[in-house]
Amino acid sequence: MSEETLFTKIINGDIPADIVYEDEHCFAIKDIAPKAPTHLLVIPKKPIPKLVDASAEDKVLLGHMMLMVGEIAKKAGVDEAFRVIINNGEGVGQTVFHLHLHILGNKKFSEDSLGF
Ligand code: AMP
Repeated sequence: MSEETLFTKIINGDIPADIVYEDEHCFAIKDIAPKAPTHLLVIPKKPIPKLVDASAEDKVLLGHMMLMVGEIAKKAGVDEAFRVIINNGEGVGQTVFHLHLHILGNKKFSEDSLGF
């Protein structure tokens, strides 16, 4: 059996984390090393390693997560302005190989580029 990911251990209660949202398909936690005053991670319970590893059978799950990003941002009070980031691969800094969407809010980002 393959090793459980960090995020699977968190949702199983084996590693503590600040869980701000949970449903049948996904959950959200506060990032342990926040890069913005509001920094949340939205994570599928299914341990898909990277976005490119998702397949057609994950279509509904991925759509659900995008909808939940909006709900979670509203709940966190950042829905007026926030950024969503997915790191896919070590080359862009992915460190946890269990798909997750970063929600970054309450931070001034450049308005005309993706650089920050
Ligand atoms: P990425 O670099 O896109 O793979 O993002 C992984 C994120 O997980 C980083 O922003 C880390 O700060 C965060 N992280 C790592 N360990 C934990 C943890 N135990 N609880 C919450 N967030 C974590």
